[in-house]
Amino acid sequence: MPNLRLITLGTGGMIPSLDRSLPSTAMKRGGEVILFDCGEGTQVQVMKAGIGFGGIEKIFISHLHGDHITGLPGFLMTLSQTNRQKSLYIFGPPGIKGFWKALGRTLGFKTGYEVVIQEIEGDFQTEGNGYQIRATPVDHTIFCLAYALIEDDRPGKFDKGKAENLEVPEGPLFGRLQRGEEIALPGGLVVKPSDVLGPLRRGRKVVYAVDTRPCEEVVGLAQGADVLVHEGVFGEELKKEANLRGHSTVAQAAEVARRAGVGRLILTHISPRYKDVRGLLAEARAVFPRTNIARDLMEWEIPVHK
Ligand SMILES: [Zn+2]
Ligand SMILES: [Zn+2]
Repeated sequence: MPNLRLITLGTGGMIPSLDRSLPSTAMKRGGEVILFDCGEGTQVQVMKAGIGFGGIEKIFISHLHGDHITGLPGFLMTLSQTNRQKSLYIFGPPGIKGFWKALGRTLGFKTGYEVVIQEIEGDFQTEGNGYQIRATPVDHTIFCLAYALIEDDRPGKFDKGKAENLEVPEGPLFGRLQRGEEIALPGGLVVKPSDVLGPLRRGRKVVYAVDTRPCEEVVGLAQGADVLVHEGVFGEELKKEANLRGHSTVAQAAEVARRAGVGRLILTHISPRYKDVRGLLAEARAVFPRTNIARDLMEWEIPVHK
């Protein structure tokens, strides 16, 4: 199984500060990198994280507020300098194609590689190699999407003893059963993978949800996720303000994490007004103890389910 790493590249919201860049999170799965949002300065954060531009295949944009998308032009121009040949896939809300076309027209800029843009208007799913990405609209002031990376389940553990009892000869037939294929033995007996494999092993699941008020859509999307990256722009003292602007407090995000039964909550999109986040962390952990507040360039390794 490939390693799965989550890297919070930019963890601020609305305006950048010296401590926090604008939103972007990378999920690195084996050699493939998937970016979620591309706030201003994302390309520099990618360099600082040592990710390498070559592995970046897909970019998913949550919504068309400037703090989440204005990094895209510079990012794509830099990719053009890397001799990139393969296509880049960008997914985002309706309007993102127009944004790209307007940029091309205004800046007279063409990439040396193909840019394929897909607009997402509602619940959506796209397949990757060994995983899928799902999107669902959330509750912000404009149309906004949360995304989930969901790995395929893996076949259960191979029980050699069971295979031997059924007189399956050791060799290529073992491999076929492990890959989930049914086989026929020379004597005519058919052996199914379920005869020799343990229960399915769940794939990993990571969810990215910014910007949004606390909402049922994220609770649903994040059900049982290993990690939920959720915005938490303010503390409880500014709850009204947060919700009015289409955002969540850290405690509200923690409540979403608790209800979704996730393994870990990572709070991001933190307002620049908080230099010291200990108070925010205490508020969130009172609701959901397995919470961290992201910093720029923090990394988490997500272990496979055995
Ligand atoms: Zn934002
Ligand atoms: Zn926004």
